[in-house]
Amino acid sequence: MKIISANWKMNGTLEDFRNYFRTFLSNNIPNERNIIFGIPYIFLQESVNITKKIPNIEIFSQNVHHEESGSFTGEISVKMISSIGVSGSIVGHSERRSMGETDEIINKKIKLLLNNNLKSIFCIGEKIEDHENIENILKFQISYGLKDITNIENIIFAYEPVWAIGSNNVDIDNIKKASNIISDFCKSKYGCKPKILYGGSVNEKNSKEILLLDNIDGILVGRASLDAKKFFII
Ligand code: PEP
Repeated sequence: MKIISANWKMNGTLEDFRNYFRTFLSNNIPNERNIIFGIPYIFLQESVNITKKIPNIEIFSQNVHHEESGSFTGEISVKMISSIGVSGSIVGHSERRSMGETDEIINKKIKLLLNNNLKSIFCIGEKIEDHENIENILKFQISYGLKDITNIENIIFAYEPVWAIGSNNVDIDNIKKASNIISDFCKSKYGCKPKILYGGSVNEKNSKEILLLDNIDGILVGRASLDAKKFFII
């Protein structure tokens, strides 16, 4: 089953969010798709309520704090999102890495999510200046992000080259190359085939070609997920 996931980032208001779900859910949701919405914290509870009767839709947060609980003003814990029925969180997005999120922090977040039976969309990907070194970068990010983790069943890898996010730059050969690297590395390290999404400038015109690629199990969509009609087409 292909995974079609949305990352709304910091967009919209309560009214936009309600209109969005009204439009999206007026369609028949195909059974053969697992749809994940990465929602701003403030709308998580309502999103869970609206979608809980639809078996193939899951609600994820876009981030979560790396400590279990404590004096972290303004932060949201894994236990909090778990207690309202959220299925998982996006972790390690390049926009968070660029604000100082390290592989060590990412590793703590993923471990907390796993310990609470939640899933992770674990984002990895190289910057343009590291492109020549893509294999080492991806292996490094996986090794440190998943340090001491042996079971990757609840981890969905999202290959998101930083240079492809928010651009119009989708390079199919590069997606093939990167997904092969991730797949081969995970098979040798964890003994199983990883679930791999591609993210970076996916839209309703290029999604089909990407979803047909061998090692690609789904997509993570930013801008094009903000329009309910476009996202439904995808
Ligand atoms: C993203 O930031 O996760 C992303 C995929 O963005 P976009 O689709 O807008 O490139």
